[in-house]
Amino acid sequence: MSRDFSRYHRQMLLPGFGEDGQRRLAESTAVVLGCGALGTVVADMLARAGVGRLVIIDRDFVEMTNLQRQVLFDEADAAEALPKAEAARRKLARINSNVTVDAIVDDLNAGNIERYAEGADVLVDGLDNFETRYLANDYAVKHGVPYVYGGAVGTTGAALAILPHTERGDAPWERSDSGSKATPCLRCLFEEAPPPGTMPTCDTVGVLGPAVAIVANFEAAEALKILTGHFDRVTPTMLSFDLWTGSMLQLKVARAYETGKCPCCKERRFEYLEGRLGSGTTTLCGRDAVQLTHRQNAGRIDLAEIAARLEAHGKVTTNRFMLRAEIAENGRRYELTLFTDGRAIVKGTREGRVARSVYAKYVGI
Ligand SMILES: [Zn+2]
Repeated sequence: MSRDFSRYHRQMLLPGFGEDGQRRLAESTAVVLGCGALGTVVADMLARAGVGRLVIIDRDFVEMTNLQRQVLFDEADAAEALPKAEAARRKLARINSNVTVDAIVDDLNAGNIERYAEGADVLVDGLDNFETRYLANDYAVKHGVPYVYGGAVGTTGAALAILPHTERGDAPWERSDSGSKATPCLRCLFEEAPPPGTMPTCDTVGVLGPAVAIVANFEAAEALKILTGHFDRVTPTMLSFDLWTGSMLQLKVARAYETGKCPCCKERRFEYLEGRLGSGTTTLCGRDAVQLTHRQNAGRIDLAEIAARLEAHGKVTTNRFMLRAEIAENGRRYELTLFTDGRAIVKGTREGRVARSVYAKYVGI
């Protein structure tokens, strides 16, 4: 079947890309993990480039403070408090209607990553925490799916395309004429995820829009090489920069696999994937908010019924995806966002204990 690729003319002119590259791209699936500052840029670039299917997974909704850097969203999305994955899907449909976009409004965790990432040709990192990155890394190594890591905070950024070492050593990137192109994984480089609260976050030090955009565009470029089968062109070093000081580095990482004893890609133990599900309480990066998943999928939530109950306490708005209530209690103001599957985000606190008590009081234990 011949397809009309004329809109991609400027891309097909690139060396080694051509109509063949475009066709491969149109038949591929990219899974974007998180749709904030990194994820919106990645999804935008990949949709414009003509990837066949984009799966976008994000747990959050659009707010005004996102608009400084999250390029797919606008003021109307924030006013409507649309889930980010859904707002991105709507925007991307207007940018390139040939791309199939699956918008998944959920928290990515050990219990659902196998389902959501199925069929992925690449995982692209738009995450805001290391625990979930290690989960993605586990999935990538276990299933032999490339994973492009990226992170940005303050004025700094880092990114690395991971082509995993597979069990049988027979992935396309391991069978290149010029030798295997497999790279270290995230756990080869840093064996454990840093404990929560020990790393600077967008919450504590802010984030420069252009720093995020550089990381995300580097990720998108690596993803395009991977999806078109140009594994020999994948950057083997880790990008690391600080835009404020002007430092720009390419760190050599290959030895981390050879000399290390990585539990993930050498011993093939997938500790993050195999389930430490966590407490169900997560403080969200860049927000004075806590996410609660302790009651997720414990039974269908009737948003209309809860909305009617909460109206006595403050302003309540609902849409198809969620309910939002403004609650004043003991002189403090909270904003409770409740999704239809029982997941909630409590804004106005960073303490899990306080968020749990707000949830218990207004939604139920
Ligand atoms: Zn490893």
